[in-house]
Amino acid sequence: MSKDSIKMELNNNQIERYSRQIVLKEIGGIGQKRLLKSKITIIGLGGLGSTTAYYLAGAGIGNLKIIDFDYVDLSNIHRQILHFTKDINKKKTESAFEKLTSLNPDCNIEKIDGKIVPKNIESIIKNSDFVIDGSDNFSTKMLINDACVKLKIPFTIAGALRYHGQIITVVPKKKTTCYRCVFGNITEEASGMSCSQAGVIGVIPGIMGSIEAFEAIKYLLDFGELLTNKILFVDLLTNQYNYINVFRDVECLTCGDNSNINLMDSGSEINDKC
Ligand SMILES: [Zn+2]
Repeated sequence: MSKDSIKMELNNNQIERYSRQIVLKEIGGIGQKRLLKSKITIIGLGGLGSTTAYYLAGAGIGNLKIIDFDYVDLSNIHRQILHFTKDINKKKTESAFEKLTSLNPDCNIEKIDGKIVPKNIESIIKNSDFVIDGSDNFSTKMLINDACVKLKIPFTIAGALRYHGQIITVVPKKKTTCYRCVFGNITEEASGMSCSQAGVIGVIPGIMGSIEAFEAIKYLLDFGELLTNKILFVDLLTNQYNYINVFRDVECLTCGDNSNINLMDSGSEINDKC
C-alpha cells in the first residue's frame, strides 16, 4: 500500500468507533487509516468466515469481499454468527451483507453469490491485500492456496472440527511454507469426516475465525508474529495449544523451486458447513 493511500483523516465518529484499538500503539491512527483502505476477501461465510468477517468489519477493514453459494440452514446457526433464525433459507451472502453493513457503515461490502472454481478465483482475489479461507474442505483450501501463491497474495487457512482447530498463514512473497507443502495432495476421503458427520462445537470455528482475522490485521499493519512456517493446533477439550514447525518443500507443486501452477488441477468445491 502506498503512502498516498493513507492520506485521509479519521472523522470524529471513526475516532470514537475505533478508539479502543487506536489506543494500541501497534495500530494508532495511521494503522486505522491503513485498515480503512485495505481490501480483504473472505471465501465462505460459515462458522469460520462469519466470525472473521464480523471482526474484520468491526475493526474497520474498508473493503470486504464476501463469497458463498449456500443458503442459511437451521443447523448452521449455533456457530455461524452472522446468520440468525430469521435468515433461514436466505442466501448467506445476503444475510452476511445485512449484518456487516449494519455493524459498520465504514465497510464497503462486495458480495459474490457463487462457487469458487479454478476459472474464477484469480479474478475474484486479484486485488486483495489478504485472503481468508472460510471453507471446510481440502479441495477448496488447496485452490485458495494455489491461487494465492500464484498471485503472491498473503492468506490464512484454518480448519475446525469437533473440539479442535488448526491454522496456518502463508506469505508467498516471503516464500513461507504453503498449505500444499504440509498436506500435499490429500483427498477428502483421506482427510476424514466433515463437521456434519463428526460434529463441531460452536466456539471452535469462532476461535479459529478470530485468529484468522487477527492474522490479517497483523499482516496489514506489519506487527506481531504471524503463523507462518508453523501450524497452530488447538484442542479445546484438553486446553492444549501446540505449534508444529513446518518447512517449505522445494519440490512442492505449488511453491516449489520448479513449480508451474495450473489451477485447473486444484480443487473446486466450496463447502462451508463448518
Ligand atoms: Zn508449497
